[in-house]
Amino acid sequence: MPIPIPPHLDLPSKTGGRKVRLRRVFRSRKALRGLTQWVVDRAIPMALLLAALWFFAARYDGGGGEVYRVFTLLDKPVGHPLLWIASAIGWVAVPAIIGGAAGHVITQRIDRVKKQPSNRLFRRRGLKQRLTPPGVIDDLRPYRYGTGSQQAFVDAFVRVAHRNDWQRAQDHWEVYLRDTMSTQQYADLDRHECLRQARNVALIALRVAALSGNGHCIVCDRRS
Ligand SMILES: [Zn+2]
Repeated sequence: MPIPIPPHLDLPSKTGGRKVRLRRVFRSRKALRGLTQWVVDRAIPMALLLAALWFFAARYDGGGGEVYRVFTLLDKPVGHPLLWIASAIGWVAVPAIIGGAAGHVITQRIDRVKKQPSNRLFRRRGLKQRLTPPGVIDDLRPYRYGTGSQQAFVDAFVRVAHRNDWQRAQDHWEVYLRDTMSTQQYADLDRHECLRQARNVALIALRVAALSGNGHCIVCDRRS
């Protein structure tokens, strides 16, 4: 039997603030461009792994100098197996990854000369706008006391679609934004514009879904 729609919107709970914030920040990375996302998702973990390998190899070998010489293929690896791994990474992985990333950037630049997306024409993108850090997906809880349309949104999305389950609603709001920001439609936008447009579309789409029929959520429907 379906759960009845509660008559009033509950107050959001105060717990789990930091964890939810971290999750929001992590999911907001989808507003970044492809290469930046790749750096966050892949390159930073790889660099950390390499740093750990370097650290342990240097500890066994009594210094970073020898590891460096093996890594840069100046010396052949003798001794500890970690040195062999360092040599193999320096030989195969590093040139391939750097070459691949550089190739991508250069191809993009060359392509962009004649493929300027129409939404970027005649715009002025100042230094301040370039340096502004990427935005974060909104926390829904302040919407409870926000503008009229924000209150109407949480009333529909949290009360009607999620039966006052704030945590689930927040999770599905983030999932919806994260996934729509990864679609082709938003691919050419810069990180601020991507987040802004995806949010505006989500506010309409999720509210319409919540108020249609018996009150449902697009993410809940897909996952059930
Ligand atoms: Zn849902």
